[in-house]
Amino acid sequence: MLLVNGKLFIDGAFYPYAIRIENGQIAEVGQGLQGEDTVDLAGRMVFPGFIDTHIHGFCGHYCGESPESMREICAALPRHGVTAFMPTPLADGSEKALKRIANIRGAIGCPGAEILGMFLYSPYKNRSISYYAPPARVSREGTLQLAGGSLDHVRAILVAPELDPDREWISWVAGQGILPVIGFSEGQPEDIADAVAKGARLTDHFPNGFPPIDHHACQAVVQCLMENDLYMQLTPDCIHVSSNFIRLMLRLKGEDHILAVSDSSPLLGYPEGEYDMDGKKVIKKDGAIRDVNGKLVTGAHFYDEDMRIMLQNGFSVNTIGRLFSENAAKAFGLKDRGLLTPGRRADLVVMNDALEVQQTMIGGKWVYTA
Ligand SMILES: [Zn+2]
Repeated sequence: MLLVNGKLFIDGAFYPYAIRIENGQIAEVGQGLQGEDTVDLAGRMVFPGFIDTHIHGFCGHYCGESPESMREICAALPRHGVTAFMPTPLADGSEKALKRIANIRGAIGCPGAEILGMFLYSPYKNRSISYYAPPARVSREGTLQLAGGSLDHVRAILVAPELDPDREWISWVAGQGILPVIGFSEGQPEDIADAVAKGARLTDHFPNGFPPIDHHACQAVVQCLMENDLYMQLTPDCIHVSSNFIRLMLRLKGEDHILAVSDSSPLLGYPEGEYDMDGKKVIKKDGAIRDVNGKLVTGAHFYDEDMRIMLQNGFSVNTIGRLFSENAAKAFGLKDRGLLTPGRRADLVVMNDALEVQQTMIGGKWVYTA
């Protein structure tokens, strides 16, 4: 298949190139390509398939709630341009959590958006405010229990580095090829710097979950902004983080070190109102989902919807393209996707100028057309 007359987004810029797809991969990219089975993209933008690395739930279900729910989620994500994702189950060791983790494992390989492995939302959080549970002790055995007895299909695990003072656990996790993800930390700057040095190359949705910035103190949150090798997840709805704070993050981290996440919940697509989320009362209102204390609970927008929100808030399509389509693969070191260059998977998203998904391709096959 030869896609012509599109604007290809490659490494932060648009090019008027054609793209040849063969055997589920990008075979060739460039000007003046000839061939049969030609598709005219009518000047639309083409991005690498979106990779959402933080999804708690979607379309009425938590990730792993049942085997069927996982299939529904995988099938529904491509309409929002998401071609691969990391289910993000709460891993608290409860029977419910272990069942969800098992169901996620069981769904790997099902049709639709690819499950790249889990981002385990561990209880290794350290926040000294009342609505957070006290942190769990960080240990190898404990982690294996939380993950259901094995680390198979675990891509990332949340941790506040100060809970692992000698960084033995962080080194062990990184040694398994799993990304330790810094979040919910009240640590000292050296805790962050040392964790990054030991392999924690990503933060959870920044700076949500961290204490507010105090300019008198020398904090973990500030150190995260100063670590050159640290990627940052961002919930880019301009509610979790103000648009100006996002601009500050972009200046400090650069456009290639911030990756958008939906942080989505089962309530996506549901109307405003009061809901029960896993036994907790939440209120969905004005584009946000909050608990009864007004605290943000999860994201309330589809992945592509956040792109349009950023556009409305004055961010360029080039910046948005990097955050939403290219940076997640870099953060996770994925070399088989995340860039429209030969040899990578033919996962791509065709969008119009308003950043609405027109078509989504996974592994060389169209899986969604608007
Ligand atoms: Zn989350």
